[in-house]
Amino acid sequence: MKTVLITGASRGIGKATALKFAKEGYNVIINYLFQEKDALALKDEIIKKYKVEVLVYKADVAIEEEVKKMITNIKNTFGKIDCLVNNAGIAIDNDYLDKSTEEFQKVLNVNLLGTFLVTKYASLIMEKGSIINISSNGAINDGYSEAIDYDASKAGIIALTHDFAKRLAPKIRVNAVAPGWINTDMNKDIEPNFQKMQENNILLNRFGEKEEVANVIYFLASEASSYINSTIIRVDGGEK
Ligand code: NAP
Repeated sequence: MKTVLITGASRGIGKATALKFAKEGYNVIINYLFQEKDALALKDEIIKKYKVEVLVYKADVAIEEEVKKMITNIKNTFGKIDCLVNNAGIAIDNDYLDKSTEEFQKVLNVNLLGTFLVTKYASLIMEKGSIINISSNGAINDGYSEAIDYDASKAGIIALTHDFAKRLAPKIRVNAVAPGWINTDMNKDIEPNFQKMQENNILLNRFGEKEEVANVIYFLASEASSYINSTIIRVDGGEK
């Protein structure tokens, strides 16, 4: 039986991804940081619906010791993993003139350093398989200036994707998805007018759903994508 580690799986895209992999028969490790209730509720939901094993693990992906301990725990429980989804991420939206060094560094630490650290230690318990990083279309060509640090971290994730794909080939494929605006907690406070404006820039005229991202993440883990490596797939409805 295959096993997947999904960081930041208590909510949003990570949760939808956990449900998708469980449906496809994977054992699932749900990593989270603060929302223990949500993570445990997701475990219950998966166990009720699917015949797979679930491990819930609290760890801050930006703290090396916590990542190391999580991977050791996973090794002791499952022996190995077959897939890693580097999904945990944060955004602190404000104008660049108001952005503090601490805020900028926090976003880079969770999104970019976190992706590096989890890949570094998880790769040691992967014989083969697939790593999927979550970038953003803001790192490619639709940047959002209030999220200048976030976009920079997501551009860094594209570089990590290419470099890890080289380093871990041919046993492990490393790809990334770059979502556009997706309906999750991350966007729950945005102004309706601003949302309308953004939707007008999307060819499909709407924000995406988390399941629409999870499906592409699963595709990149599956045999259906066996010759796709070191690639970034945009999941953003198409930009006008
Ligand atoms: P979300 O609903 O805000 O969920 C974020 C998840 O990350 C939560 O499970 C949270 O855990 C976890 N997390 C945050 N900091 C963490 C840390 N230091 N260590 C471990 N886990 C941590 O976000 P989302 O919208 O689903 O986003 C998921 C990924 O997609 C992120 O990388 C995000 O940047 C990317 N993305 C999102 C969009 C979008 O429009 N939503 C667009 C492009 C890219 P707790 O629940 O325990 O706090």
